[in-house]
Amino acid sequence: LVARKSHEEDTVIVLPGDVTVGGSSSLMVAGPCSVESELQTRTVAAALQRAGVKVMRGGAFKPRTSPYDFQGLGMDGLRILREAASEYGLLTISEIVDPRHIDEALDYVDVIQVGARNMHNFELLKAVGEVNKPVLLKRGLSATLDEFVHAAEYIMSRGNTQVMLIERGIRTYEKSTRNTLDISAVPILKQECHLPVLVDVTHSTGRKDILIPCAKAALAAGADGIMVEVHPDPATALSDAAQQLNIDEFNTFFNEVKASGLYR
Ligand code: PEP
Ligand code: MN
Repeated sequence: LVARKSHEEDTVIVLPGDVTVGGSSSLMVAGPCSVESELQTRTVAAALQRAGVKVMRGGAFKPRTSPYDFQGLGMDGLRILREAASEYGLLTISEIVDPRHIDEALDYVDVIQVGARNMHNFELLKAVGEVNKPVLLKRGLSATLDEFVHAAEYIMSRGNTQVMLIERGIRTYEKSTRNTLDISAVPILKQECHLPVLVDVTHSTGRKDILIPCAKAALAAGADGIMVEVHPDPATALSDAAQQLNIDEFNTFFNEVKASGLYR
């Protein structure tokens, strides 16, 4: 179902407000790693609206390495995200980690994110495959493209055809970036599948200083969109403090990406 040979044209996913993913226009998805408070979320939402961004991300269920680290605000986080987004006319993307949370989350998210750590969680994939809500599927930490595509197939085989893929870097021996951005994943996925393909430049690199060239490379390689983390005061962030852009840095980033002519 995911394969290009089953569906020759690019799939375009239409989100509320006629925001499209795939096809002729690029999509910028931005927002904090975690929803931390109303003020933090509203501050980012206001900045994104001013910048012309249509879709805000924000994690509420955070899959952290350590159980002692901030785990996210859960359903309260989703409510905060939705309220801030609605106030500023934005759509929402947030990760769901447990099939039991899906029903309740449907009121708060416009796109369900399946995180890298859950790409192999087949019961979650089947569960998001059964709802009528677009899904943003992240590539697993060490997933091959074949495994990634099969994870998307799990979702689609349950009836949900609104699936977007996102490359977020893979584990390699290279230590100069948090993960290794597999830029070749973009043209391969675009060639072999008909689904929109995005690139998360933040988690793939873990470094703010190379986001602009990485985003340009992703778009030049055919990506339909970019995801980037933005926080009003990254130094105080409860997760991923080192890699989030502040609002000024985000504006510079987005302006440079648009100025490249690669962002359609
Ligand atoms: C995220 O996008 O919030 C996230 C946790 O990323 P990943 O699942 O790619 O690690
Ligand atoms: Mn993060």
